[in-house]
Amino acid sequence: MLHRIGFALCSDEPVSQSIPSAASPKEVEPRKSVVRIHFPTRNMTLSYYNDAFDLKVGDIVYVDGKLEGLRGRVVDITYNFKIKLSDYKRVISVADTEVKGEFFFAGSHFVTFDPTVLPYSKVISWFKAPDKGDDIYASGKDDSGFNLNDLSTMEISHDVAERGHNYYMESRVRYICLDGTKGRAIVDGTQIYELEFEYQNDEIRNLTCSCFCSYPCKHEFAAMLQLRETLKLITKNYEAQYQASNYFAAVFKGTLMSIAVDGKETGSILLG
Ligand SMILES: [Zn+2]
Repeated sequence: MLHRIGFALCSDEPVSQSIPSAASPKEVEPRKSVVRIHFPTRNMTLSYYNDAFDLKVGDIVYVDGKLEGLRGRVVDITYNFKIKLSDYKRVISVADTEVKGEFFFAGSHFVTFDPTVLPYSKVISWFKAPDKGDDIYASGKDDSGFNLNDLSTMEISHDVAERGHNYYMESRVRYICLDGTKGRAIVDGTQIYELEFEYQNDEIRNLTCSCFCSYPCKHEFAAMLQLRETLKLITKNYEAQYQASNYFAAVFKGTLMSIAVDGKETGSILLG
């Protein structure tokens, strides 16, 4: 039996008033506010000045100052205030947590075959602040590969494999997608790690992780185990959908619930 779940999470506001991002400044100035923001990883709630976004309670935001880079959630908004600006840090970006589309059950994750539902760029904003643009990266490819169905060909040490397996069991591979042969994953470890790889005919090539290990790491091993499981479930249950789109994105159920469902006042879920 196929289990399906559909999401239609939307706010009351018209599309033209959807959450602006730092990259697309609004023509109309947002209303100035002082917002209380809770940072779950620090268990702290602090006040910030905001004049850049139309924020709502429940929005996921990033700030400057000491807590830069940490995910926060808006818990209160005040429009009636008088503050000394130099005393306050600001909200610098808002995550796009609007999710609309159909999801299929696949083990610990939900899977979508529609590339517009959960693109990587949206999901990464749930985990980390946007790059400031002043970091310069270099990458190289040696086209080395291994077989996804025989991870011993990955040349990973026993210890690292065991830690990677634990990450996989804990569903720390929060997101993994495959667009044709191009894959990306987000692994939640000591911090957020971003992975890229190529996949074709059971072969993985050019796997890299943003932890910058020069050898195969636990994040990579965890992502490969998750990829293997998800592909297995897709082949078993949703072959036609996958073949039609040649794309899938899998998101950990807990992530989708905590980001796209919790804290929302409007929206709906259709189970089928
Ligand atoms: Zn890594």
